[in-house]
Amino acid sequence: MSYCVNCGVELAPSERVCPLCGTEAVNPRQPFDKAAPKPFPARLDIFAPTDNRGFLALVVTIVLCLPAAVCLACDAAYTHGAGWSMLVAGAMALLWVFIVPAMYVRRHAVLILGVLDTAAVLGYLWMIEHFAARGPWLVQLALPLVLLVDFLFAADYFLMARAVSARLRRAALAVATVPLFLVGLEVCLDRYLDGRVSLSWSFIVSVPCLLFALLLVVLDRRERFKREMRKRLHM
Ligand SMILES: [Zn+2]
Repeated sequence: MSYCVNCGVELAPSERVCPLCGTEAVNPRQPFDKAAPKPFPARLDIFAPTDNRGFLALVVTIVLCLPAAVCLACDAAYTHGAGWSMLVAGAMALLWVFIVPAMYVRRHAVLILGVLDTAAVLGYLWMIEHFAARGPWLVQLALPLVLLVDFLFAADYFLMARAVSARLRRAALAVATVPLFLVGLEVCLDRYLDGRVSLSWSFIVSVPCLLFALLLVVLDRRERFKREMRKRLHM
């Protein structure tokens, strides 16, 4: 029996070098024997990862369908379908659209997921207006806000995927998106509440955001700072 002179691991007669550290096996009493059986199997079995997505999707569907079905049944039995149960069922359907398609769609097909999720959110907002709220808030407030958030998300995603690769610049881009959202939010709220637009608080919050984004861009250009950050944050 041989042992590696460097790391002490036990060596089979068929091993010319140590499988751990690569040191040459030296034992005059047990020279290298090419014909001796190898300690490791020659073939490599590769197991395909099991795909549980179908089962998971079924579990999610059942978990979401149950409360919706119970609420619809109660609503039909006690209040003769006043509509509140439709909001619960709609919320469950919304969750389903958020969770299940994401299991099947690949990473690069984020656009498909975005369109699906937006359609689901708009459908649910329509349900709220139809069954609960009154007034033109869907068209004047909710719809523009959903489209604004969608647009900003899509713009950030494509810029980060295609053009902006450095982490600090990505953070700067994300921070710089906040003022755009805030200005859009104030425009929508002003139009809905007063009918006229006068920007005030969104500007006040936007200025520190833009300054912070600018600071991140400046720091991104400082190699020494980046090295220090990587060292301290183990990045
Ligand atoms: Zn060794």
